[in-house]
Amino acid sequence: MVRETRSTCPYCGVGCGVIIESRDNQITGVRGDPHHPANFGRLCTKGSTLHLTASAEVTLQTRLLRPLQRLQRGGVLYPVGWDDALDNAAQRFAGIVQSDGPDAVGFYVSGQLLTEDYYVFNKLAKGLIGTNNIDTNSRLCMSSAVAGYKKTLGADAPPACYDDVRHAACIFIVGSNTAYAHPILFRRIEDAKRANPALKIIFCDPRKTDTAEIADLFLPIQPGTDVMLFNGMLHIMLWEGWTDAAYVAAHTTGFEELKALVRDCTPDVVAQTCGISKADLLEAARLFATSPATLSLYCQGLNQSSSGTAKNTALINLHLATAQIGKPGAGPFSLTGQPNAMGGREVGGLANLMSAHRDMANPEHRAEVAALWGVPTVPDKPGKTAVEMFQAAADGEIKALWIACTNPAQSMPDQATVRRALERAEFVVVQEAFSTTATCRFADLLLPATTWGEKEGTVTNSERRISRVRAAVPAPGETRHDWKIAVDFAQRLERLISVRPEPVEGHDASTFSELRQAQPERKGGLFPYPTPESVWNEHRESTRGRDLDITGMDYAMLEAAPQQWPLREGETQGVARLYTDGVFPTADGKARFVASAYKEVAEPRESRYPFSLTTGRLRDQWHGMSRTGTLGRLFGHVREPSLLMHPQDMDRRILKEGDLVHVTSKRGSILVPVQASSELGLSQVFMAMHWGEEFLSGMGSTGQRLAGVNALTTSAYCPDSKQPEFKHAAVKVLKADLP
Ligand code: SF4
Repeated sequence: MVRETRSTCPYCGVGCGVIIESRDNQITGVRGDPHHPANFGRLCTKGSTLHLTASAEVTLQTRLLRPLQRLQRGGVLYPVGWDDALDNAAQRFAGIVQSDGPDAVGFYVSGQLLTEDYYVFNKLAKGLIGTNNIDTNSRLCMSSAVAGYKKTLGADAPPACYDDVRHAACIFIVGSNTAYAHPILFRRIEDAKRANPALKIIFCDPRKTDTAEIADLFLPIQPGTDVMLFNGMLHIMLWEGWTDAAYVAAHTTGFEELKALVRDCTPDVVAQTCGISKADLLEAARLFATSPATLSLYCQGLNQSSSGTAKNTALINLHLATAQIGKPGAGPFSLTGQPNAMGGREVGGLANLMSAHRDMANPEHRAEVAALWGVPTVPDKPGKTAVEMFQAAADGEIKALWIACTNPAQSMPDQATVRRALERAEFVVVQEAFSTTATCRFADLLLPATTWGEKEGTVTNSERRISRVRAAVPAPGETRHDWKIAVDFAQRLERLISVRPEPVEGHDASTFSELRQAQPERKGGLFPYPTPESVWNEHRESTRGRDLDITGMDYAMLEAAPQQWPLREGETQGVARLYTDGVFPTADGKARFVASAYKEVAEPRESRYPFSLTTGRLRDQWHGMSRTGTLGRLFGHVREPSLLMHPQDMDRRILKEGDLVHVTSKRGSILVPVQASSELGLSQVFMAMHWGEEFLSGMGSTGQRLAGVNALTTSAYCPDSKQPEFKHAAVKVLKADLP
């Protein structure tokens, strides 16, 4: 008999609802949930093939099904029981913390974890160990959006929703290949355009991707010049009288400073810097400002930049200046890449964030979290963010790393440094569903985790909508749920800590002794969770009175339907659209303009490295292909890795389609076939982010083995958000000298 289980797609931040079909404890099919408000039954190629990635055959070939440990670095992996594995891990972590202090360990987690998983890891690091060294691969995709929202609107809360696509008169898509990265949202845009031919769509991106096909106006700006474009648009809006003076006066601060900044951003300067025509610039400013409702959709093109926060704030400035916010069809709407990047933000599972959008620098906020968790204090010093964490491990400062549900040996920029970090760290735990990731090779201890179709919990999509994730089949082999692994480890660590009360001289390990005294008398200590629902209920309580208050959102309510936050106790419906009353969560209730000047990319092109390399997604693949790479049919769209290059650049270098080329940056080199693509501008090249070492080998500048495009990318990052610049690295391209 076929059983049906409602759940959520584990791929992108659209967060589509799925119905999983299973028989005899095996997933046999998947279809879109017609009642889920993110997709109304639709699924893209990735979502509709999910069941095939969960077949018994694929599970046997790719899954990690029992704990494994290595007795020495580079040695063979041996099976180990869960108790021994976790005892060993707890002893190693406790030992390092005792000898070197809490900041000598780090946790690197994932936007694909569920909110309950995230919550336990965050409490483990900040509450039990007393370090803020917990960061996530979401740092690589949306931390600039977080910083942008907080600086301007006062809280990390996307103000718009998917339904705004239907109400918009103008949609400004910038730095987002929505057609590939958020396919079901893109279908909504297509529907809106069909229903309302007067809808104007502006698409801005250095690449003329498939998203451009729907655009009325395409702005192919030079890589990294977004801030200049937005400031130039504001210059024109001011000149033409298209700003909303009444809204600015009533609901914002800081406009005069911004006006002074954009005075020099004349159309001549902007057109030349961005590489677009003055007429197109003027038209973009006119459509944005004068349309009855303008919605901006943006993603990694803005976020993955050494000016990521400035790009976000400069775009939000446009919405505030023209009152294109807080009404149907309008607002700055940052799209999340991963299925639960938003949930991680909500629990504060990043090195500089606190639970429920609290401020780490605020002593009252820290005291609230400490009281909730039953610990004396939580640390006030921001922890190491993703790039900083691996740099600190490479420098010997962080000695133990716990990596959950992510593959930094492939996905982090400047792979040479990351691999050096994984080799140098004294103890590396990798908690994973798949045995096939490059990071598994560096693990001292591999802990097998459950994955989609097997887990229970919640995720939050781009529009603040929280959906249930449900288990359709039992956990295979000896796998355990991510939250449970974290709890089982934390309880052991807590016991070790409680028998080691004395802080080590010279290190700030006093948290331990204080913690022992403060430990509540309750079964399970600080982590008394029998179920994911019990974790969820503690998280819900932590949001009480906050901007994202979800005290009214229990599992029973989510069983009935996904809900958007906030949804306070006693309420029955979440909030679709924020700031409709023009009041913002700042001290004076006003939004803040942020004046940010344009800055060049961190590593500009130069004579030795004359190409701009940008990276991005393909339509049918996901991240490092642990899951999508198991299906031959998902290679039908793009079969193999290649470097895309403008045909004229190929002609100049006497390259023909399929020639092998060495692509080299200051950090490494890879060998890859070249392919002509007129979607790029001159002197620009593109590579997809998905291909790892099974497909694409390379070498670091000091000769170490590397793979994939992140052998080339730079770890330069935005000073505010610490998000790395995946969208630009200077490279050279030379034809391989084949025999
Ligand atoms: Fe899954 Fe995203 Fe496709 Fe929806 S659009 S089915 S969430 S990958």
